[in-house]
Amino acid sequence: MTSLRTRERLVQRLIEQGVSDYQVLDVMRNTPRHLFVDEALAHRAYEDTALPIGHGQTLSQPYIVARMTEILLGAGGKLDKVLEVGTGSGYQTSILAQLLPRIYSVERIKPLQDKARDRLRLLGLNNVQLRHADGGFGWPEVGPFDGILSAAAPAVVPEELLAQLAPGGVLVIPVGAREQHLHMIIRDDSSDKFITQILEPVKFVPLVPGITR
Ligand code: SAH
Repeated sequence: MTSLRTRERLVQRLIEQGVSDYQVLDVMRNTPRHLFVDEALAHRAYEDTALPIGHGQTLSQPYIVARMTEILLGAGGKLDKVLEVGTGSGYQTSILAQLLPRIYSVERIKPLQDKARDRLRLLGLNNVQLRHADGGFGWPEVGPFDGILSAAAPAVVPEELLAQLAPGGVLVIPVGAREQHLHMIIRDDSSDKFITQILEPVKFVPLVPGITR
Protein backbone atom coordinates (compact mmCIF):
# COMPACT_ATOMS: atom_id res chain seq x y z
CA MET A 1 0.00 0.00 0.00
CA THR A 2 2.89 2.37 0.58
CA SER A 3 4.93 0.86 -2.22
CA LEU A 4 6.68 2.93 -4.84
CA ARG A 5 4.21 1.65 -7.41
CA THR A 6 1.23 2.97 -5.47
CA ARG A 7 2.87 6.36 -5.15
CA GLU A 8 3.86 6.35 -8.80
CA ARG A 9 0.22 5.80 -9.70
CA LEU A 10 -0.72 8.87 -7.66
CA VAL A 11 1.91 10.94 -9.44
CA GLN A 12 0.58 9.74 -12.81
CA ARG A 13 -2.88 10.90 -11.80
CA LEU A 14 -1.54 14.30 -10.84
CA ILE A 15 0.15 14.59 -14.23
CA GLU A 16 -3.09 13.60 -15.97
CA GLN A 17 -4.86 16.36 -14.07
CA GLY A 18 -2.37 18.92 -15.34
CA VAL A 19 0.28 19.18 -12.63
CA SER A 20 3.54 19.68 -14.49
CA ASP A 21 6.15 21.08 -12.08
CA TYR A 22 8.58 18.17 -11.83
CA GLN A 23 9.97 19.40 -8.50
CA VAL A 24 6.50 19.28 -6.99
CA LEU A 25 5.81 15.86 -8.52
CA ASP A 26 9.11 14.55 -7.21
CA VAL A 27 8.45 15.69 -3.67
CA MET A 28 4.90 14.29 -3.77
CA ARG A 29 6.27 10.97 -4.97
CA ASN A 30 8.76 10.78 -2.12
CA THR A 31 6.64 12.03 0.77
CA PRO A 32 5.01 9.31 2.91
CA ARG A 33 1.43 10.63 2.99
CA HIS A 34 0.34 7.58 4.99
CA LEU A 35 2.19 9.00 8.01
CA PHE A 36 -0.17 11.99 8.04
CA VAL A 37 -3.38 10.05 8.70
CA ASP A 38 -4.51 7.56 11.35
CA GLU A 39 -3.34 4.00 10.81
CA ALA A 40 -6.88 2.88 9.97
CA LEU A 41 -6.84 5.17 6.94
CA ALA A 42 -3.26 4.57 5.85
CA HIS A 43 -4.34 2.20 3.09
CA ARG A 44 -6.14 5.11 1.40
CA ALA A 45 -3.29 7.58 1.71
CA TYR A 46 -2.25 7.38 -1.95
CA GLU A 47 -5.72 7.77 -3.38
CA ASP A 48 -6.34 11.22 -4.80
CA THR A 49 -8.86 12.09 -2.15
CA ALA A 50 -9.23 14.24 0.95
CA LEU A 51 -9.08 12.25 4.22
CA PRO A 52 -10.40 13.04 7.72
CA ILE A 53 -7.80 13.99 10.35
CA GLY A 54 -10.18 14.50 13.29
CA HIS A 55 -11.73 17.63 14.82
CA GLY A 56 -13.93 17.95 11.73
CA GLN A 57 -10.92 18.74 9.53
CA THR A 58 -9.45 17.07 6.46
CA LEU A 59 -6.10 16.45 4.88
CA SER A 60 -6.43 18.08 1.46
CA GLN A 61 -6.65 16.00 -1.70
CA PRO A 62 -3.17 15.42 -3.20
CA TYR A 63 -4.19 17.18 -6.42
CA ILE A 64 -5.03 20.40 -4.60
CA VAL A 65 -1.83 20.24 -2.52
CA ALA A 66 0.20 19.83 -5.72
CA ARG A 67 -1.77 22.50 -7.55
CA MET A 68 -1.44 25.13 -4.81
CA THR A 69 2.25 24.41 -4.42
CA GLU A 70 2.73 24.69 -8.17
CA ILE A 71 0.89 28.03 -8.25
CA LEU A 72 3.05 29.34 -5.41
CA LEU A 73 6.31 28.27 -7.10
CA GLY A 74 5.13 29.38 -10.52
CA ALA A 75 4.30 32.94 -9.42
CA GLY A 76 7.90 33.77 -10.20
CA GLY A 77 9.07 35.70 -7.16
CA LYS A 78 11.60 34.61 -4.53
CA LEU A 79 10.13 32.43 -1.79
CA ASP A 80 12.59 32.66 1.08
CA LYS A 81 9.93 33.03 3.73
CA VAL A 82 6.54 31.40 3.36
CA LEU A 83 3.51 31.34 5.67
CA GLU A 84 0.98 28.54 5.67
CA VAL A 85 -2.43 29.07 7.27
CA GLY A 86 -3.97 25.81 8.54
CA THR A 87 -1.23 23.29 9.34
CA GLY A 88 -3.77 20.49 9.78
CA SER A 89 -1.97 17.17 9.46
CA GLY A 90 1.24 18.87 8.37
CA TYR A 91 1.24 17.18 4.96
CA GLN A 92 1.13 20.36 2.87
CA THR A 93 3.65 21.84 5.31
CA SER A 94 6.02 18.93 4.67
CA ILE A 95 5.74 19.38 0.89
CA LEU A 96 6.54 23.09 1.19
CA ALA A 97 9.40 22.42 3.62
CA GLN A 98 11.12 20.14 1.12
CA LEU A 99 10.98 22.77 -1.61
CA LEU A 100 11.57 26.06 0.21
CA PRO A 101 14.01 27.30 2.85
CA ARG A 102 11.77 28.62 5.63
CA ILE A 103 8.17 27.71 6.38
CA TYR A 104 5.99 29.25 9.08
CA SER A 105 2.70 27.50 9.70
CA VAL A 106 -0.23 28.50 11.88
CA GLU A 107 -3.00 26.18 13.16
CA ARG A 108 -5.95 27.02 15.43
CA ILE A 109 -6.56 23.48 16.80
CA LYS A 110 -3.85 22.55 19.30
CA PRO A 111 -4.04 18.72 19.12
CA LEU A 112 -3.67 18.84 15.32
CA GLN A 113 -0.65 21.08 15.65
CA ASP A 114 0.95 18.74 18.20
CA LYS A 115 0.57 15.74 15.87
CA ALA A 116 1.87 17.71 12.90
CA ARG A 117 4.92 18.73 14.91
CA ASP A 118 5.72 15.08 15.71
CA ARG A 119 5.43 14.08 12.04
CA LEU A 120 7.62 16.91 10.79
CA ARG A 121 10.22 16.01 13.39
CA LEU A 122 10.06 12.34 12.38
CA LEU A 123 10.77 13.37 8.79
CA GLY A 124 13.65 15.57 9.91
CA LEU A 125 12.09 18.74 8.50
CA ASN A 126 13.52 21.33 10.84
CA ASN A 127 13.04 24.40 8.66
CA VAL A 128 9.44 24.72 9.86
CA GLN A 129 8.13 26.85 12.70
CA LEU A 130 4.65 26.18 14.03
CA ARG A 131 2.38 28.49 15.94
CA HIS A 132 -0.93 27.88 17.69
CA ALA A 133 -2.93 30.93 16.66
CA ASP A 134 -5.68 32.31 14.47
CA GLY A 135 -4.04 32.36 11.07
CA GLY A 136 -6.51 34.94 9.80
CA PHE A 137 -4.15 37.41 11.44
CA GLY A 138 -1.11 35.93 9.75
CA TRP A 139 2.08 35.96 11.80
CA PRO A 140 2.87 39.68 12.09
CA GLU A 141 6.02 39.20 14.20
CA VAL A 142 7.64 37.22 11.37
CA GLY A 143 6.14 38.81 8.24
CA PRO A 144 6.27 40.14 5.60
CA PHE A 145 6.25 36.90 3.64
CA ASP A 146 7.25 36.18 0.05
CA GLY A 147 4.42 33.69 -0.14
CA ILE A 148 1.31 32.84 1.85
CA LEU A 149 -0.73 29.70 1.27
CA SER A 150 -4.02 29.12 3.04
CA ALA A 151 -5.62 25.69 3.46
CA ALA A 152 -8.80 27.19 4.91
CA ALA A 153 -11.31 29.37 3.10
CA PRO A 154 -12.42 32.80 4.34
CA ALA A 155 -15.53 34.48 2.89
CA VAL A 156 -13.32 37.44 1.98
CA VAL A 157 -9.52 37.73 1.95
CA PRO A 158 -8.30 38.93 5.40
CA GLU A 159 -6.65 42.36 5.22
CA GLU A 160 -3.94 41.15 7.60
CA LEU A 161 -2.74 38.54 5.10
CA LEU A 162 -2.53 41.13 2.34
CA ALA A 163 -0.67 43.47 4.67
CA GLN A 164 1.89 40.74 5.43
CA LEU A 165 2.73 40.11 1.78
CA ALA A 166 6.17 41.40 0.80
CA PRO A 167 6.43 43.43 -2.45
CA GLY A 168 6.26 40.89 -5.26
CA GLY A 169 4.81 38.35 -2.83
CA VAL A 170 2.03 35.91 -3.67
CA LEU A 171 -1.01 34.76 -1.70
CA VAL A 172 -2.71 31.51 -2.74
CA ILE A 173 -6.05 31.13 -0.98
CA PRO A 174 -9.50 29.58 -1.43
CA VAL A 175 -12.14 32.30 -1.07
CA GLY A 176 -15.91 32.15 -0.72
CA ALA A 177 -18.66 31.11 1.65
CA ARG A 178 -20.94 28.78 -0.30
CA GLU A 179 -18.95 28.53 -3.49
CA GLN A 180 -15.21 28.83 -3.30
CA HIS A 181 -12.59 29.66 -5.89
CA LEU A 182 -8.85 29.51 -5.60
CA HIS A 183 -7.38 33.03 -5.72
CA MET A 184 -3.84 34.00 -6.61
CA ILE A 185 -3.07 37.50 -5.39
CA ILE A 186 0.25 39.14 -6.17
CA ARG A 187 1.44 42.30 -4.49
CA ASP A 188 2.92 44.60 -7.09
CA ASP A 189 6.69 45.01 -6.83
CA SER A 190 6.80 48.77 -6.97
CA SER A 191 3.40 50.08 -5.96
CA ASP A 192 0.98 48.94 -3.31
CA LYS A 193 -1.40 47.37 -5.78
CA PHE A 194 -2.69 43.81 -5.55
CA ILE A 195 -3.37 41.83 -8.69
CA THR A 196 -5.95 39.09 -8.25
CA GLN A 197 -6.46 36.10 -10.49
CA ILE A 198 -9.48 33.92 -9.80
CA LEU A 199 -8.73 30.30 -10.64
CA GLU A 200 -10.65 27.03 -10.37
CA PRO A 201 -13.59 26.19 -8.07
CA VAL A 202 -12.47 24.35 -4.92
CA LYS A 203 -13.83 22.91 -1.68
CA PHE A 204 -11.98 23.71 1.53
CA VAL A 205 -12.91 23.79 5.19
CA PRO A 206 -13.76 27.34 6.31
CA LEU A 207 -11.28 29.67 7.94
CA VAL A 208 -12.64 29.80 11.48
CA PRO A 209 -11.82 32.66 13.84
CA GLY A 210 -10.20 32.09 17.25
CA ILE A 211 -8.31 29.09 18.62
CA THR A 212 -9.19 25.87 20.46
CA ARG A 213 -7.01 24.07 23.01
N1 SAH B 1 -2.92 21.55 4.72
C1 SAH B 1 -3.62 20.76 5.67
C2 SAH B 1 -5.10 20.91 5.47
C3 SAH B 1 -5.83 20.99 6.74
S1 SAH B 1 -7.49 21.53 6.60
C4 SAH B 1 -3.15 19.33 5.55
O1 SAH B 1 -2.37 19.05 4.65
O2 SAH B 1 -3.51 18.50 6.36
C5 SAH B 1 -7.36 23.22 7.07
C6 SAH B 1 -6.84 23.50 8.43
O3 SAH B 1 -7.01 24.89 8.66
C7 SAH B 1 -7.56 22.79 9.57
O4 SAH B 1 -6.64 22.07 10.32
C8 SAH B 1 -8.18 23.94 10.38
O5 SAH B 1 -8.18 23.71 11.78
C9 SAH B 1 -7.25 25.08 10.04
N2 SAH B 1 -7.83 26.41 10.25
C10 SAH B 1 -9.09 26.85 10.01
N3 SAH B 1 -9.22 28.13 10.35
C11 SAH B 1 -8.00 28.53 10.83
C12 SAH B 1 -7.50 29.74 11.37
N4 SAH B 1 -8.25 30.84 11.49
N5 SAH B 1 -6.21 29.79 11.76
C13 SAH B 1 -5.41 28.70 11.67
N6 SAH B 1 -5.83 27.51 11.16
C14 SAH B 1 -7.11 27.43 10.76
